[in-house]
Amino acid sequence: MTAEKIRVRYAPSPTGFPHVGNIRTALFNWLFARHHKGRFIVRIENTDVTRTVEGAVEVILDGLRWLGIDWDEGPEVGGNYGPYFQSERLKFYQEAAKRLVDQGDAYYCYCTPQRLDEMRAEQMRLKQPPGYDRQCRQISATSHILKFVSGSRRVIRFRTPLEKKTTFKDIIRGEVTFENAKIDDFILLKSDGYPTYHLASVVDDNLMKISHVLRAEEWLSSTPRHLMLYKALDYKTPQFAHLPILLGTDRSKLSKRHGVASITEYQKKGYLPEAMINFLALLGWSLDDKTEILSRKKLIENFSLKRVSQTAAIFNKDKLDWMNGIYLRKLHSADLSRQIIPFLERDLPLGVKRPISFEYIEKITPLIQERIKTLEEVTELTDFFFANELDYQPDLLMVKKMNHQLVNKALETSLLKLRRLSAFDEKSLEAMLRPLAEELELKTGQLFGTLRVAVTGRTAAPPLFQTMVVLGKDRCISRIKMAIAKLKETPEETNEN
Ligand code: GLU
Repeated sequence: MTAEKIRVRYAPSPTGFPHVGNIRTALFNWLFARHHKGRFIVRIENTDVTRTVEGAVEVILDGLRWLGIDWDEGPEVGGNYGPYFQSERLKFYQEAAKRLVDQGDAYYCYCTPQRLDEMRAEQMRLKQPPGYDRQCRQISATSHILKFVSGSRRVIRFRTPLEKKTTFKDIIRGEVTFENAKIDDFILLKSDGYPTYHLASVVDDNLMKISHVLRAEEWLSSTPRHLMLYKALDYKTPQFAHLPILLGTDRSKLSKRHGVASITEYQKKGYLPEAMINFLALLGWSLDDKTEILSRKKLIENFSLKRVSQTAAIFNKDKLDWMNGIYLRKLHSADLSRQIIPFLERDLPLGVKRPISFEYIEKITPLIQERIKTLEEVTELTDFFFANELDYQPDLLMVKKMNHQLVNKALETSLLKLRRLSAFDEKSLEAMLRPLAEELELKTGQLFGTLRVAVTGRTAAPPLFQTMVVLGKDRCISRIKMAIAKLKETPEETNEN
């Protein structure tokens, strides 16, 4: 492969927000281009006007930018083979379709939607495969002119060869063969003058000098149609590589219940682009049988179609979470703090003052870095650091079989001792609280558990002493006082557990 000739494209249709499978296609194309120092092109396939979703193009491009998948040609950056929106390239498709008609490789079809519906119903009744019955293929020149003059709506269909087979060598799947007779005379140009996917894809891949078409397996059955078009139009055929299908862990078709989401949703939940890239790269490709964590640089260095598997790739959301956790732990604390802030500002109650102080978050980050799998989780884990008043049931204070009296005593004594503590750091807290447990004849877990609830409002929170240091002496004292007051409001006898 000569490097400078490698040109690949990601050709999304803006009919919705891109999901993982779609982005995986973008990533594999990008890795292939970057590995071979070729060109990565983005082309927007927006010829299906009725299915176009407003805002989808921006979402697709933002998703790519977020992941750091940069494109050498395409929307916004331009390039020598533009425009890169198919809706702006209609003349190319119309010219090609016309040429095919002139050559006898395509024909006008005047069948009405009603006739096609009837045809389909009849095919279903007879249990025949669906597809156009080629009625207009034989239309005589005279009736053609008559229909044209009468202004009948028409489309252009490809005159599919009825004999022989179409065979090609897929880089991933090896030799693939389709019988031509099984392929119907598919539409090239619709009655509104817009091309179908097949025509537009082939014309553009040719004009944009695409060397390799890397796309999802679901497009495999379109490939013989495309090859027929390449031949009829006398275009040079690119190489094809169909990426393995994605399935859920139960090997069924991917859906929301498998935890798949659009790329924007992953961004919103606080997955890191680096983790996402790593995870997506392993959906059908591998370096070897064991390596899981691969940096962007390593992926580019090592990516090869030879190691793309033919068998289905399994999407495992737990693995994504695990991987994201690894990438979060790898971040420098300051970097993680910076990334956490927007999530806190988005999700903390409105009563919390914004902007949130970076210096304050810097103190919290080390307490949670080991425990989070997504940035979104941070808010729930740390909201007590920002609350003015904690909202919890007093029962919660009675951890590990403690009762009203014991809790009260534990809190009152801790309060006294804390007040007297001059240095408020982890060491002094530990040096004071461990012996205190003994003095009160409590297990450390009981005393610490109660204090944890008193200062955080919950039973599970980051390490107690570190948490108390971040909260500061005054806030710890006032929260313990509040806990004592809460306890007083609760009748004693109902509190034993
Ligand atoms: N527009 C098609 C899609 O949305 C592109 C398929 C192809 O790559 O040829 O996936």
